[in-house]
This record gives sequence, structure tokens and C-alpha cells, in this order.
Amino acid sequence: MTRQRLTNKEWNALLEQQGGKCCVPGCESETDLIGEHSTPNALRAGKPDQLMCASCHKIKTRNDVREIARARRLSGETSSQWGRRKKFGPTFKSKNTFRSHHRYG
Ligand SMILES: [Zn+2]
Repeated sequence: MTRQRLTNKEWNALLEQQGGKCCVPGCESETDLIGEHSTPNALRAGKPDQLMCASCHKIKTRNDVREIARARRLSGETSSQWGRRKKFGPTFKSKNTFRSHHRYG
């Protein structure tokens, strides 16, 4: 998956918001910070909105996999590629299926 990078300004703003440390409550780590999404990137496209240290990130990544799988199951989405393009792809429009559906309906 592609991740969007934060600019220096955005990074610093986030860092300041979090008091210069990892976003995880109770974690005091100020090094090895990584830009992270409060919601999994696969479920909501966009830039990271929090900074997390590498060790917390490892744990979160493991949990995300389960979280994403669960959300997909609940929404009935079977193919991630298809769903993401349908929602966020600016050039991707299902013209044919939509139109014919409309006309016959
Ligand atoms: Zn941490």
C-alpha cells in the first residue's frame, strides 16, 4: 500500500501536539517515531495523523491486520483493491455497470 508522507511542518505540528513523544498513552518514547494513522490506512486514505514509536508501531501493525479483516467482513467487502478504487480512485469510474443498471432500473 502507498503511504503519504508528512511535510516537516505537519510532522512538527503533530509532535508538538503529542508533547514530543509517542502518541500511545503511557509510552514516553521520543525516538524512532513513525507517522501513523489513528485508523488503518486501508480503511481511510490520507496522511498520518499521529506519531508512534517503532515498538508501539509493531504492536499496532499486528492488531491492524485483524481490525482490517474484521471491518472488511462486516462491510461485505471481499476485494480490497476493488473497494478502494471504487471509493478513492479519481480516474476509476464504473461507467458501464452504473449506466446500464440505471437505464434498466
Ligand atoms: Zn510508543
